[in-house]
Amino acid sequence: MKFVIIGGGPAGHQAATHAARLGATVTVIERDVVGGAANLWDCIPSKTMIATGGAMSFARRLEGMGLEEIKPEIDRDGLAERIEAITGRLHTGFTSQLQSQGIKILRGTARLTGLHTVMADTVDGEIELSADAILISTGSRPRIPQWCTVDGDRILTTRDCYPPKEIPTHLVVIGSGVTGVEFVHMFSSLGSQVTLVVSRQQVLPQKDAEVAAALEEDFLKRGVRLLKGARAESIERDPDTGGVVVSCDDGRVVRASHGVLAIGSMPNTENLGLAELGVDMDPGGYISINQHCVTNVAHIYAAGDVSGKLPLASVASMQGRKVAEHVMGLHTREHRHLDYDKAASAIFTEPEIADVGLAEADAFALGRKIRVTKVPFSASAKALINNDPRGFIKIVSDPLTGVVLGGSIVGRHAAELISVIALAVTAGLKVSDIAESMLVHPALSEALADAAE
Ligand SMILES: Cc1cc2nc3c(=O)[nH]c(=O)nc-3n(C[C@H](O)[C@H](O)[C@H](O)COP(=O)(O)OP(=O)(O)OC[C@H]3O[C@@H](n4cnc5c(N)ncnc54)[C@H](O)[C@@H]3O)c2cc1C
Repeated sequence: MKFVIIGGGPAGHQAATHAARLGATVTVIERDVVGGAANLWDCIPSKTMIATGGAMSFARRLEGMGLEEIKPEIDRDGLAERIEAITGRLHTGFTSQLQSQGIKILRGTARLTGLHTVMADTVDGEIELSADAILISTGSRPRIPQWCTVDGDRILTTRDCYPPKEIPTHLVVIGSGVTGVEFVHMFSSLGSQVTLVVSRQQVLPQKDAEVAAALEEDFLKRGVRLLKGARAESIERDPDTGGVVVSCDDGRVVRASHGVLAIGSMPNTENLGLAELGVDMDPGGYISINQHCVTNVAHIYAAGDVSGKLPLASVASMQGRKVAEHVMGLHTREHRHLDYDKAASAIFTEPEIADVGLAEADAFALGRKIRVTKVPFSASAKALINNDPRGFIKIVSDPLTGVVLGGSIVGRHAAELISVIALAVTAGLKVSDIAESMLVHPALSEALADAAE
């Protein structure tokens, strides 16, 4: 089985390593670096910056730990080196893993030239490959609206921020979805004054209202200005100050030193030869796929952000694994189909937010009877020891069977703790399975067992 993968991000990487393990002859064509935008531009650098911001916030709370307060200063070059070291190390690890499995990595830009041929434009010239199966996993890039000209200096996309040339004195974040709120948190922890343009009346409009309210409360405490019900319609350089001016559709104007766009992404599906071969895409350019990530062309697959499902590295990776199994004909055996409703996700703010499965509000909207149990971290010994009792754990279950349907966590280590609820949702476990687990004491996870009571 000759399997050619275009794009070596989480989807391509997982598909490659899993397919090779199952016996395929795999080639990955990557125009940049293996690890993808996830490693180079998105997940890893953003979370590295957030970790540094988190260390600064923690230092500001040292007094509460019985220590003298310290006032850390940012070392911008040190931060840049740290980001490069982490992404570099991961990239090297991914590359050697693929090479050790005999997977061929071609550095170049690829396109389909026929139903079974892929052309890679490399530094050594064009190389044509024949393939029995092809995966498109070319990812996405930040969406830049027509009313904005990004200069990478003061008007930024998220990709210009790792770290920016200078830490903004005042940053306007346009967009209040997951990326927007993470950037608010990141820069306010690093000491910037931050204004967030929120087009609706709630940050994180897709999330549980109680969860969003906890985050808004924290933002307001930190002095973040929320411009609710305002849609940005222009961002320009201010010739007087050298900063930026953001104008909103309700007439409000914000002047700041920098502005960053966080208004979603666009799929990298142009110039791949897809339309010419009749591969179906939606009007936004996302590739249509079935539950096996197969396009309307039987041996051409799409996974990751290009598939327009959940734009998460974790989902991209799982899609990649499922593609590998389908390519090798294993989907007919013991094979759990992808259920995007069971994907856990996290928002790396302070407090951290994570959720999985059915949300309380969605259950009400569906008219579905549920049982909701909630425990605040203020009742947790470990949260008090950590000097951080913010947040709560909420578990949604079926009132008749006790099967766990979903949950939300707001608080320290939420992204780690949600794994227990995610496992319960995927495996169909009951609240009693969590409640009767003998967990560690003192630990934040005890609140999971309490919430499951
Ligand atoms: C700021 C930010 C933070 C994020 N943080 C998280 C997070 O914490 N957790 C999480 O789960 N998700 C996060 N995401 C989402 C996550 O980054 C994406 O969902 C993930 O990168 C998608 O993986 P992918 O494999 O589809 O594509 P990518 O990671 O985008 O990789 C695609 C690869 O394809 C290559 N490519 C493109 N076109 C071609 C071509 N023609 N030929 C050869 N190669 C090509 C690109 O160079 C790239 O390396 C974040 C996103 C953003 C914007």
